[in-house]
Amino acid sequence: MERRDVIVIGAGLAGLSAAAHLATEGHRPLVLEHHAVPGGFAHEFTRRGFRFEVALHALDGAGPGGWLYGMLKPLGVLDRITLQRLEPLYRLRLPDFEVTAHADVNEYRQELVDLFPGEAEGITGFLDAVKRVGRDVGGFARDRATGWKPTPIEMMERFPDMSTAFTQSWADFLSAHVSDDQLKAALSALWGYFGLPPSRMSAGLFAAALASYHLNGGYYPVGGSMALSRALEDVIVEHGGSVLYRNTVTDLEVEAGRVRAVSTHRGERYEADVFISTASPLDTIGFAGSDHFDPEYVEKMTADAPALSNLVVYLGVEGDLAAEGWDHHEYFVDDGYDLEAGYQTVVDGDFGRAGMVITNYTESDPGCAPDGHSVLVLMTLAPWDHADVWGTGGDLTDYSNNPAYVAVKEAAGAALIRRADALIPGLTERIVVQEIATPLTNVRYGRQPYGSIYGREQTVENMFAHRRSPRTPIANLFLAGAWIAGGGMSTAMGSGRTAAALAGRALAG
Ligand SMILES: Cc1cc2nc3c(=O)[nH]c(=O)nc-3n(C[C@H](O)[C@H](O)[C@H](O)COP(=O)(O)OP(=O)(O)OC[C@H]3O[C@@H](n4cnc5c(N)ncnc54)[C@H](O)[C@@H]3O)c2cc1C
Repeated sequence: MERRDVIVIGAGLAGLSAAAHLATEGHRPLVLEHHAVPGGFAHEFTRRGFRFEVALHALDGAGPGGWLYGMLKPLGVLDRITLQRLEPLYRLRLPDFEVTAHADVNEYRQELVDLFPGEAEGITGFLDAVKRVGRDVGGFARDRATGWKPTPIEMMERFPDMSTAFTQSWADFLSAHVSDDQLKAALSALWGYFGLPPSRMSAGLFAAALASYHLNGGYYPVGGSMALSRALEDVIVEHGGSVLYRNTVTDLEVEAGRVRAVSTHRGERYEADVFISTASPLDTIGFAGSDHFDPEYVEKMTADAPALSNLVVYLGVEGDLAAEGWDHHEYFVDDGYDLEAGYQTVVDGDFGRAGMVITNYTESDPGCAPDGHSVLVLMTLAPWDHADVWGTGGDLTDYSNNPAYVAVKEAAGAALIRRADALIPGLTERIVVQEIATPLTNVRYGRQPYGSIYGREQTVENMFAHRRSPRTPIANLFLAGAWIAGGGMSTAMGSGRTAAALAGRALAG
C-alpha cells in the first residue's frame, strides 16, 4: 500500500470535510470508514421505494453569506448540490397556541408580538441581542482565522455580546429580555438541537445558532444530507484522495511520540505523516493505548459526559401529506412550557410526553417517496440507559435480534406513533413501511459512544475556552467531529476544516 501524507479516521461530515480541504490543497488523504457508505449520521437508507434521511432536519449557515456557505463554495460542493431554504423554518405546537417560525425574521417577530403584545419590547430586544451574538461570533471567527490570539480583555472589548453570552446559561439570557414562560418556551423551540435544558445550555451557542437559523435561514439539500456527503466524497476523489469503506480502525501505532501507522479490523496497515481522527477522543486514545497520553489528558477525556441520544421512527405512509395540509418541513410538538421538566421526561425515557418533532421530508425533498406517498419521521431525544440500555442489560452482541430489545424499541416507537396519530388522523392505518432507530443504532452504524448525537454535552462550562482541543499530546495526531467542536452537521464540517488546517501546517513544518 502506497504511503499517504494524511490519514483520516471516519467518513462522517467532519472526516469528509477534513479530507476535502486537504485534497483541494494538493494533499492525497486516505479516509478509512467503518460503515459501507459516506456521511456518518449524514446518510440515508431505502425501503420499498421510500428513501429515508437518517438525521438532518435543518442545516444552518448554508445560505449566501452564511458560514457554511463560505466553507463549501471554494470546495466546489455548492455546484454539486441544490440547497433549499426552509419556509417556514419550522412550526411549533404548544398546548395553547402555535407559532410559525417564518424564514423572514421580521414576520417571525411580528407573529410573536401578536401572540405576546405585552412583551413586544422584550421580543425585539431579544432578537437584537441574538443578532449581536451572531455578528460577534462571525467577527471572532474571521479574526481568529488571521491568527489573532486575544486576551480575555481584548475579547470583551471587541466582542462583548459573544463574550457575555458564552458565560451565561440560556435561561439567564432569556430572562434578561422576556418574562412570560410560554414565550420563553416558544423562543426555545430548537432546544432539542442541543439536547440540554435552558438552565444548563450555553447561551452563546444557542444564540449563535438562532442567529444563523433565523437570519441566514435553515436549509435542506435536495437528495438529503447524503447528497452533501456524496458531493464531499466526489471532491476528495477527484482531487486524488480516496475513501475506503468497511475499514474499521482498531490501532494507532505510536513510535517516539508520533503516530506512524493505523491498522484496521481487516489486518491492513497504512502509514502516513499526519493523522486526523473523527472517532471519539476516548476511542482514539484506545486505538493508541492510553500509555501514550499523559494521565491528566486521559482523565479529562474520560470525564466528558455524552450529549443525549435519540429515538427516531421512520415512516413511509400512503397519501400526500403536504396536500392534506402538512405543507411544512418541520413540526415541533411540546406538551408543556417548563423545558426543565421537558428535559427530565427525555432523561426518564417517558416517550409518551417527551417533546417530539415530526418531519414531512416529502415537502422539502419530493423524490424521497413514491407518487401519492410521504416520508414522515418522528423524533425525540432519548437517554442511553433507558430500560437498562434498551432491554439488553448492556450486552450489545447481536442486540437487534434480542427479543427484549425489540420489545423495548417497539414500545417506545409506538408511543411516538400514537401521539402523531392524534395529530394526523388515520396515520397508523396508512403506514406502509416502518423502521425505528434507538441509541444502540447510533453505536452500530456510527460508532458514537452512548449513541450521542452531539458528542460531548454542550453546557456553559464546556464552551469556548473549555472546548476540547483538536490538538492532542501526540504532535501528528489531530481530532475533529462532534466531541471536539460540538454537535450539528455544519459544526462537524467546520471542525474538519480546522483539523485540515492543523494537519496542513504539520505537513509543511
Ligand atoms: C437523528 C439525528 C438528527 C440530527 N439532526 C440534525 C440536524 O437537523 N441538523 C444538524 O446540523 N445536525 C443534526 N444532527 C447531528 C449531526 O448529525 C452530527 O452532530 C454530525 O453529523 C456529526 O458528524 P461527525 O462527523 O462528527 O460524526 P458522525 O456523523 O458520527 O461520523 C463519524 C464517522 O466515523 C466513523 N468511525 C468511527 N469510528 C471509526 C473507526 N474506528 N474506524 C473507521 N471509522 C470510524 C463512523 O462510522 C462514522 O461514519 C442529528 C443527528 C442525529 C443522530
